[in-house]
Amino acid sequence: MIYADYNATAPIRPEAREAMLAALDLGAANPSSVHKAGRAARAVVEKARGQIGAAIGSRAEDIVFTSGGTESLALAIQGAVLALDAKATLIVSAIEHDAATKAAAYAGVPVETAYVLASGQVDLADLNTRLAKWDKAIKGTPILVLMLANNETGIIQPVADAAALVREAGGLTVCDAVQALGKVPVNAALLCADYIALSAHKIGGPQGTGALWHRAGAPLKALQYGGGQERGLRSGTENVAGMAGFGAAAEAAVRDLPKYAMLAKHRDAMEARLKAEGGVTVIGEASPRLAGTSNFARPGFRAETQVMAMDLAGVCLSAGSACSSGKVKRSLVLMAMGADDALAEASVRASFGWDSRPEDFGKLADAWLEAARRTVLKETA
Ligand code: PLP
Repeated sequence: MIYADYNATAPIRPEAREAMLAALDLGAANPSSVHKAGRAARAVVEKARGQIGAAIGSRAEDIVFTSGGTESLALAIQGAVLALDAKATLIVSAIEHDAATKAAAYAGVPVETAYVLASGQVDLADLNTRLAKWDKAIKGTPILVLMLANNETGIIQPVADAAALVREAGGLTVCDAVQALGKVPVNAALLCADYIALSAHKIGGPQGTGALWHRAGAPLKALQYGGGQERGLRSGTENVAGMAGFGAAAEAAVRDLPKYAMLAKHRDAMEARLKAEGGVTVIGEASPRLAGTSNFARPGFRAETQVMAMDLAGVCLSAGSACSSGKVKRSLVLMAMGADDALAEASVRASFGWDSRPEDFGKLADAWLEAARRTVLKETA
């Protein structure tokens, strides 16, 4: 099997597995207990917090553990709005993950859209114009929600530039770095954001574990109450093994950043073949992209058909668009970039990562071209 769906979830790294097993082997140990067993669990949690902090160049105490990227985004977006007594307006980029757009939609304040250019990057000039005439008395604090790397296309956003504009206007920035961690350097201070959402399972850690970094002093209120864990920002008995796995995975992913960057060479060769022999359009080809992500489309070869054909050929990838009740749902990310319907209905994402082999790229191209020859290429021959 060729697994090319790392942006959906990555296989667990050996370092993460080992750390999780060691944490599970601690036995009954609640990090809040003062006895020896509890202190051992606390040490595991704090080691992991330090590892996540180190991975993004931050202090350990600015990291709050959560159940994943979705919760981190909800905590940042809704927790900031709550702390500002809802005197805020959210500016959400048009290509955000549902976890961000839906958290914003339910935050109880107005939501505006930050548009993206055909390059797939946010329109900084438009953002600047909008912020220049921002009336804080009417709209409250502007809160920008902008991802660092897009899950469908891998396109990297100019978060530091956007966040600097927002900061100058007295606003706040929530950055979804779920797809960026371990793929490009992520530095909390350099990003200029006030909140950074992270997730373990995209980098070879366990599913259901995440973290939110927040700038010291950034407005943030808890969304759930209870035992006061995580400095009162996220009550609930800690997922000790999950945190241990996340910490170990983050350390390994950052160590392996140069190795990840090497994937671009194989990805580009794969795309060159798909373009030459299969007539595909590569989405975001000219934009800065994650080395292991490829989003391509062959008009007329519907995304679902491609995914099914590839599955039969033993290749796991995913559709940029989704099919519900027989109707093709176009990729909103591609639509936001101004792609036409034919492309938006036909885009698929192949994503590679820490355990991908160089030969996976060529084999994926072979399988895709074979499927295309049986269908869409035959029709147009
Ligand atoms: N943000 C992005 C860009 C993602 O790709 C995902 C997962 O698909 C999430 C947020 C949600 O993260 P999690 O699955 O950890 O809740």
